[in-house]
Amino acid sequence: MEKERVVENNVCIYCLAHCTELTTDHVIPRSWYPDSSPKGIWKFQVPSCKKCNNYYSKIEQNLLLKLGMCLNRSDIKCAGVPQKVMRSLSPGAGKNYRDSKARLRKREEIKRAIKEIPRRLPYGILPNFGSSLVSTETAAAIKVEEHNLMEFAKKLVRGVTYILSSSLIYNDDQIEVLVCEQGKANEFEAIIRKFGKKHSLAPGLNVSYVAAADCPEALMIRIEIWSRLIFYCFVHPPPRDRAGTN
Ligand SMILES: [Zn+2]
Repeated sequence: MEKERVVENNVCIYCLAHCTELTTDHVIPRSWYPDSSPKGIWKFQVPSCKKCNNYYSKIEQNLLLKLGMCLNRSDIKCAGVPQKVMRSLSPGAGKNYRDSKARLRKREEIKRAIKEIPRRLPYGILPNFGSSLVSTETAAAIKVEEHNLMEFAKKLVRGVTYILSSSLIYNDDQIEVLVCEQGKANEFEAIIRKFGKKHSLAPGLNVSYVAAADCPEALMIRIEIWSRLIFYCFVHPPPRDRAGTN
């Protein structure tokens, strides 16, 4: 029998644990929305247990710090985000002495993490986050942990699926995430354009969602943040779902 994908009450949509006390989590963190977002938009929110909320919050803070520093301050699609990141590293913006010290510590940590790399690396540059300058041989770079990027993308998949199809991603579903140059994703882009339901949350913040006609649990989801960070995500249900046996 096919597994029924109904959402139960009191379930964390990320780890599927039953909890008496759930928190509300923003699928795309609030601070990632550009200042150019329409007023009063609903920022995708989902029920999450405290543990997952804290776990993803740490990952998101780490990613925002690093990715935010690579954004263009004058780009409307990330309006205010790089400024927010720089403020979080500014001791002068601290609410009190302790807060200022924490910001200073974080700034020193980030400064140590910035490395000089050859500008023309053949691999390893996050698509759309490389430098466009070609005047010198080297560029400043900061390492973004792949684990964090993938955990974040999988969280987005779970959250977006819950919101757009009122269903959960189960532990035996396989989530595959691809981060590649758009030119290398033409095939996916064509499918998304033809069959995808597009949800625009803000300038540069879009989610497109396609469920396979013959297997609605098989999904293709394109998530675009600041028009720079683009995830192509695929959900493969376990084979027994497709065969209709359990
Ligand atoms: Zn959880």
